[in-house]
Amino acid sequence: MTETRMRDDITRMAKSLFDRGLTFGSSGNISARIDDGWLMTPTGSTMGNLDPAKISKLDDGGKLVSGDAPTKESFLHIAMYEERPATGAVVHLHSTHSVAVSSLADVDPKNVLPPVTAYYVMKIGTLPLIPYFPPGDLDLARAVREMASKHHAVLLANHGPVVAGKSLEDAVYATEELEETAKLHLMLRGLDTKYLTDGQVQALKENFPN
Ligand SMILES: [Zn+2]
Repeated sequence: MTETRMRDDITRMAKSLFDRGLTFGSSGNISARIDDGWLMTPTGSTMGNLDPAKISKLDDGGKLVSGDAPTKESFLHIAMYEERPATGAVVHLHSTHSVAVSSLADVDPKNVLPPVTAYYVMKIGTLPLIPYFPPGDLDLARAVREMASKHHAVLLANHGPVVAGKSLEDAVYATEELEETAKLHLMLRGLDTKYLTDGQVQALKENFPN
């Protein structure tokens, strides 16, 4: 895929996320791998109105080559790419239902969401919770890096999800699946619920590996 096409795809998918309320203000960021580095949404930009020409371009070392300065959360993306070499794109949102779940007191930090649907198991599978760190704290980068080697999706406590995918579409669709499952989980709290069984989850993971 050409760089120009990727710039247009990031702009289009970011606007789609914004228009559906999955991201708002200047929150959230998207990155994608290209032949000679990465494209990343700029700091302070709104996902609803990106200028493809101003998207940050970083070289293989993470240094800005052209465009506006990248998101201050670029370290979340770089951690995923470096720990997961097959990653083609990373999405990070402050989407409402995922943030709500990330703030619950009684979740299992090893796997935050239950297996509500087969699609969630296939697109996310296991979702660890990363403890809360204030913005800019380098310990957050270290914590994400430790989890990223084993998981393509993580949830930052009181903050939001970081999801890696083989392609931009994969990363965006998996993030949307996570957000919808977080919404379902909140709707089902307090209701007697039948989740997928351990055997059903295992069969899905074997037949549809991430
Ligand atoms: Zn964030």
